[in-house]
Amino acid sequence: MDFPIKGVIFDLDGVIVKQKLDFAAIKQDIFGDSEGFILERMERLSGPERERAEEILEGYERAAAEEAELNDGVKPLFAHLDKRKTRRAVVTRNSRKSVAIVQEKFGLDLGVVISRGDAPPKPSPEPILLACRRMGLSKEECIFVGDFELDMLAGRRAGVRTVLLRNPAQPFSENADFTIDSISNLLDFLSP
Ligand SMILES: [Mg+2]
Repeated sequence: MDFPIKGVIFDLDGVIVKQKLDFAAIKQDIFGDSEGFILERMERLSGPERERAEEILEGYERAAAEEAELNDGVKPLFAHLDKRKTRRAVVTRNSRKSVAIVQEKFGLDLGVVISRGDAPPKPSPEPILLACRRMGLSKEECIFVGDFELDMLAGRRAGVRTVLLRNPAQPFSENADFTIDSISNLLDFLSP
């Protein structure tokens, strides 16, 4: 990358950690079918229905976070970011509680954390822009690494450079500026 990267924004699931979040099962439990996206459908609920949905979702998220596995290469990458004084952030559609579980479990400093309670969820650009602001950086100084189309869309809309961590479910994205095959490949983009 031919520009100075001062901040790296990460998606959580599939990028920092591997988590077994069974979205189809969550939707079955909440809505009785497996259509669409959970958060967008929950937006249309209110009162006790909404509370019930949030409880179910948080239960799944807690269990997944407790059993999460750290992705290979994350700790060395974070050490490298610290060494070159590059800021970092996490933008996730998950709850702040589940991020806290992951942080504690692996002793990770994730930097700025933007969860679904802080801004409208991806693919809105807002959580990405909020992460840039909280890091004190402009969008031109940041890259966003994700493993899913909603990440690439959010990043593209926000105007940051997008990096797709390629995987079987998302081998390609028109909204990705760069693609990598493992988190360690990011080191190639970051000058010493
Ligand atoms: Mg993800």
